This record gives sequence, C-alpha cells and structure tokens, in this order.
Amino acid sequence: MNILYKRFLLVLFITASASVCRAQQNFLNITNYRVYYGWAHNYPQDWLILRRFENNGKDYLLLVNPLTLQTKANETSFYQVKPMTLEETRVFFKKTVYEKVINAAEKKSVNIQDAGIERGLPTEAGISLTADLCPSHKPLDRRIFTTIFNEFKKVEKPAPIALSVSGLWMLHHVQDLEWLKKLSNEGEIRITWVNHSYNHRVNKTAPLKQNFLLEPGTDISYEVLATEKLMLKNGLVPSVFFRFPGLVSDQQLVFKITDFGLIPIGSDAWLAKGQQAQDGSIVLIHGNGNEPVGVTDFIKLLHSKTKLIAQKQWLLYDLSDTVDEEFEQSR
Ligand SMILES: [Zn+2]
Repeated sequence: MNILYKRFLLVLFITASASVCRAQQNFLNITNYRVYYGWAHNYPQDWLILRRFENNGKDYLLLVNPLTLQTKANETSFYQVKPMTLEETRVFFKKTVYEKVINAAEKKSVNIQDAGIERGLPTEAGISLTADLCPSHKPLDRRIFTTIFNEFKKVEKPAPIALSVSGLWMLHHVQDLEWLKKLSNEGEIRITWVNHSYNHRVNKTAPLKQNFLLEPGTDISYEVLATEKLMLKNGLVPSVFFRFPGLVSDQQLVFKITDFGLIPIGSDAWLAKGQQAQDGSIVLIHGNGNEPVGVTDFIKLLHSKTKLIAQKQWLLYDLSDTVDEEFEQSR
C-alpha cells in the first residue's frame, strides 16, 4: 500500500478514535481473558479479532485493523461477530497488510537473534524508534522523550515511538507509566505499546538457545496474555507487535507468537551495540535506565539531523508504516 495512503488511513483512524483513545478505560476487573479469532464488522470497517474478555459484566474484544495494524479494545455488542479458527482467520484476511506482514515475519524465523521484521525500506528519510522497557530497578530514561519532543514539536506532533513494555516494568514503575500516559494523552508523543513478555527472564551464563523466552519451563501463554491484561488494566491498548526479550527466539517460538496473532519486531540498529541507523531502520534503545549509552547515541543522532528535521527531511515513522514498507519489499 502506498505509504501516503497508509498515513491518510492512519490519520483518519486517529481522528475517528481520538475520543476512544483519550477515554481508554482502565480495565480493572478483567475475567475470562482469552485468545479469540474471527471477524468483527461495524460498517464500513472490518476488524480482525485477537482476544475476548469480560470486565464488570460487559463483554469486550481486542481488535486489529487489518489495513493499518492499529488496535483497539471495544464492546462486543457494537459489532457483528463471526468466530473463526486461527487458520480460517488468516485465510479470510489473506489479502490484507496484516496477513502479508505476519507472513513476512514468519519467513524470518530461523535466526537465534533478531527474527521477525527488522527494518523497512530506505525510501523515506528517517527511522522508526523502539525503546525497550525490560524489568529494571532504575527510573525511566526520560531524556528520550524530552529530546524527541523538543526536536519534533514544530514538525511532527505527536512524534511516534514504540515502547516494548514488560509486565514487571509496569508493576514497579507506576509513576513513570503515568508520566508516559500523560505525554500521550496530551498529544506530545504517540506511543505504540509493544508486548515485551511479562517476566523477561534472563540468565547471565546460559547460552542463547536456553536463554530469555527459550529458558526451559517458560510459560509462553502467561508471558503474552498476562502482559496484555496488565496493559489493559493500566489503560494501555496492546498493539499487534511483540518484541522478544534479548531479541532471542527460535523458529518454534516465532510461530508460537504468530499463533497469538502477534507480529515479532526485531531491529537492524541496536545503537548500544554499535549498529548504525540507516533510513528505514527499526532502531532499538533501552528506556529502562540500563543502557544510557544507547540513549546518548540516539540523542546524538537526533542532534545531527536537526536541520533536516526542521525541513521535514528526516522524520520518525510509526512502526506500522515501517513494517508495511517491509511488506512492499517482500512482494
Ligand atoms: Zn528487554
């Protein structure tokens, strides 16, 4: 899909759902949260259903727009609903951006590190920024957000950022999370909330193939769904994206994640590891205070682009725009 058209759809979506986003409720009493596939229709839009749950006696769906990859949680009664198996759902939405992108991610499932979509096309000058919030005793590295806001306030507001959030980070950083939600609600940045697993276990000595989510005894269903539930409880809308802790996975694990309907997101520019950002890169930094050197590199990168940013010649791109570009590349 043409990126301009895609952005047009995104703007439409944001405009249409602005009230929904701002009023996104905190789902404090979720029960019966489950994987649930199918088609939900509310004229003129078709939605792919990912989850179903109840909260205070009402029934809800977690939905993804198969053309823009935007998600929302909404009451089931607003839609005409057709339940389907995972296989039926993927066939039904075969011609959509969603199916093409998740299929492209599955084709990049073999590597032990950096599986999934790791970059877009270098057709547009700029990057897509992802910041990981792995469990940490340190406070949020707020420099990321203040620098983005200052650099982009005159040219791209709200500027987009994807935050990969772990369950344990959310549990222990209540004030930082409130600060982020305030920035987002006030339209200063636009956050895509990416699932980064709940416990994010890591073993300093184990080899990669038995580390992170590949550690024996890992309950993937809990790691995925408990994180989503905690996002919803905190008033965040889970996106359709998943970031592997340590970027570590194997083929079986990639397919387990895509079986939850989620799209794994890698990175071709982990700044703290010395990887350079190129146009179209999905850049990885850590926002949890544990990798300040990567954040400093990111700030340097932005400062080196100040002139271009002011002329709108170098921008931050929404993750869903970037992965759509990847799909264009894989066609
Ligand atoms: Zn992490």
